[in-house]
Amino acid sequence: MGNLKIPQEDIHKRLSFLYQAAYQTLKSKNNNAGLCRYYINTLKLIARKNCIALHPNIKRTICKRCNMLLVPGLSSLIRLKHKRQKMSTITCTECGTVKLYVNAQGHIPNIDKPESWLDVVKDGVSVMGNRKGNNQGKTKQQTKSKQDSETKQQTENKQETQDKQHALTEYVASALQGT
Ligand SMILES: [Zn+2]
Repeated sequence: MGNLKIPQEDIHKRLSFLYQAAYQTLKSKNNNAGLCRYYINTLKLIARKNCIALHPNIKRTICKRCNMLLVPGLSSLIRLKHKRQKMSTITCTECGTVKLYVNAQGHIPNIDKPESWLDVVKDGVSVMGNRKGNNQGKTKQQTKSKQDSETKQQTENKQETQDKQHALTEYVASALQGT
């Protein structure tokens, strides 16, 4: 009853399982980094093959260089820096790759902005809500332009009728003069 069907649900489940398995292997006493990397590697492969974009929150916890899961205190170091802007650096302890994130107040990364996400329209109303306003603006503009065109047409019609009347009166006058 009204269940939303998720496309490629089995693949999503598999990706979720691989991510959780990678985290558990890293968290376990053995601290098997190789197995963790293998899980993340297969996760990325499956996602790429099925054209599934990983969520930014998941992507940020994966090292770009060595495919290690970045867990603070286990496989990564987080440090706060203040150079030009307030930043936080995440260093992969396996390969030393450093990720930089701006931490300034009020800063929103592009990927977190609602405009950069696909909008789902349900029953004529967008789920995000931000597109609705834009559409309203557009419709307002369209109605304005429509009204403008209508008034223009009306004035043109008026001029045409006036011209016709002028021609008629001239014709009548000439006919009267002729007789
Ligand atoms: Zn790394």
